[in-house]
Formats: sequence, C-alpha cells, structure tokens
Amino acid sequence: MRLHVLSLGTTDVDKGVLLTPGVDLGTRVVTPVPGYLIETDGGERVLIDTGLHPGHIEDPSMTWRDVPEFDAILRPVMGPEHTLAHQLGLIGMTTDDVTHVLSSHLHFDHAGQLAALPGRPILVSGPHLAAARANPDGFPPRYWDLPELDYVEVDGEQELFGGIEVIETPGHAPHHRSFVVHLPRSGTIVLGIDAVLSHHQLERDDWSDQVDPDAATASGRRLARLAHAAGAPLWFGHDPDQWATLRHAPAFYD
Ligand SMILES: [Zn+2]
Repeated sequence: MRLHVLSLGTTDVDKGVLLTPGVDLGTRVVTPVPGYLIETDGGERVLIDTGLHPGHIEDPSMTWRDVPEFDAILRPVMGPEHTLAHQLGLIGMTTDDVTHVLSSHLHFDHAGQLAALPGRPILVSGPHLAAARANPDGFPPRYWDLPELDYVEVDGEQELFGGIEVIETPGHAPHHRSFVVHLPRSGTIVLGIDAVLSHHQLERDDWSDQVDPDAATASGRRLARLAHAAGAPLWFGHDPDQWATLRHAPAFYD
C-alpha cells in the first residue's frame, strides 16, 4: 500500500476568519488544497478528494463571484501544476489509472476535479449526498452533480480496500468523513480532512465557526484521541505549516 500526497490547488484566505477566528483578521495566508492517491495491495488506485476545479486557473472568482463575502476571505490561487492530470503525472499515472474516488465531502475545494473521472465509482456518504443536493449554495452542484459521474453510496464507518478506515466526522459539513490509512512502513496516518482544518483549530479548541459547532468539537477531539492512541500523525485539511513538512508527489509514504 502506498500513499501519495497531491497538491490540487491553493487558497489565499483571511487567517482571522478561517484559521484563527477573531484573531489576525485581515492577515492573508496561502493554504494548501490536498488530495491523496492510495495504491492498495489489491491493485486499486483510490483518490481521496479532487481539489479545485481547473477553471480557477483563469478565473479565481468562478465559484464565489456572486458571494463577495466568500470571495474576499477564500480566494483560489491555482496553476496548471495543480490539475489532477499534472499531479498524477508526477507519479507516472493518468486520470485513467484512478479506479475509485473516496469523497470526504462535496465542498468546492474537494469536489472540483470530479469531472476528470467520468464513470469511476465515487464512494460517498448517502446522507451527505442528500444534504449537498439540498444546499446548492454551500455545495455548488456544477462541480459534482454531473450526469457522467457515478456515485455509489457507502454509509457508516467501515474499512475499505483492506486498509482505509472510514470515520464519520460531522460538524464541518453534514456527514463529513475522515480516513485512517494503515501503511506497512510508515504506519498509521489519520487523514482528518476538514474535520480539523489546521493545528490552530485543535490548539485553540475553537470550533464555533463550523456549521455544527458541537458536532465539530466532538469530531475534532475524537480524531485527536484516535491519532494519539495509534501513535499516528493527524493530517489537517488546509494547514500550510504542516503541509510544508509532508512528502509531496512524486515522493510517497508506503
Ligand atoms: Zn476544504
């Protein structure tokens, strides 16, 4: 089993709104938008999340043009090096080599490149898919509600592909999911995704700005406990400090 860390965009955010609510307002920080490609022992190539839509390369405001308050605090900064095709190319693959997509949630910065993967099973939480369909403002459907996409609802906590555990971590979004990956040499890695956005959120223990603060608190603390008990690193959703310490494609974890 092998885990590749892909860089599928960046966002220029207001730190005082999105990373440390109420502190450092107006300070801009460029944060990563990760995806993860896992090669399983069974030969599957499972992509966890797909980053930002490549249309942001030419038009950073394509998602939030009509929502100026979002556009101001969360501005995509994307180059050709952030496309799925380019990132997979770094590890000798093309989008055709991806056999499955595992979706944490369908926010625009996680579902942006699904259109590059027509016909591939996209494993998603059924209740999350329903919640996204009911909230087009929060989950812009242009990125993920496409006829060529093949959603497969896989509900509940379980192990998939012999080494990827699905953990339910609601709070950032309804039925958000995190993943625990067990690698032979690197050991266990907890992919928190947006259940823990950055080390600030965990250190401040402040989840008040999340959609469901109580659920987010429980999910964030649970992931921290789980990682601690396993002696595993907890990887955050959009943390530039931690991102700088990770091995990015073409390097990998095995
Ligand atoms: Zn995100």
